[in-house]
Parts: sequence; C-alpha cells; structure tokens
Amino acid sequence: MSGIVYSTEKGRLCPDCGEPVDSCRCETHRKSQVLGSGKVRVRREVKKRGGKSVSVINGLAMNEQSLKECCREIKQKLGVGGAVKGGNIEIQGEHISYIIEHLKKKGIDAKKG
Ligand SMILES: [Zn+2]
Repeated sequence: MSGIVYSTEKGRLCPDCGEPVDSCRCETHRKSQVLGSGKVRVRREVKKRGGKSVSVINGLAMNEQSLKECCREIKQKLGVGGAVKGGNIEIQGEHISYIIEHLKKKGIDAKKG
C-alpha cells in the first residue's frame, strides 16, 4: 500500500481529502494547525551524539509558521542555531532563562522543566 491514489480523470489524488493534489489544501491546513497545548515548558536536553546540550521549548500554542518565526527570533538574538522539530523549538546550547524571558516579553507564560 503506497497511500497514493490515482484517478484517470483527475491524476494524482491526495490520500487525506481525495482532491487532486494540485487543488488540495491539506498542507496549508496542517501548517496553520496549532500544535501545542499552551502549557509551555523550557528544558535542557543533551543529544547523545557529541553530548551537546540544546534548549527545548515545548507546548507553545502556535502553528508551524509561528513556531518557525519564534525560533528564528531566538536564534537571531542569541546568535546560535536551532530548528522546529515535531511541534517543539530546539535551540542550541543552554539558554533556558533567556528563552523564558523572551517568551514573557511576548506575553507567553513559560516555566522551566
Ligand atoms: Zn488533501
């Protein structure tokens, strides 16, 4: 089972909504979906390979687009790398206090842990 559906008249169809992939809005909907619960936690995690620590922000009630913007802001201010992964923001290095302050300025209540 490939998950890809074909129709002779319409061409390739989206497996989620059944619309032709050209007119499918699933990707747009997925990107605008709010991912977190709003209970925001910032914690330190150590990546196994290399043992480098990252600061993980979990629970932000934002869609993927907003998470990416928020991630970019923090990265620019700190001058470090980072990425959005599975609804979380991961920032390289230990910046928990800074991140909590940054979120507070945006009106978001975040806790350590
Ligand atoms: Zn679709």
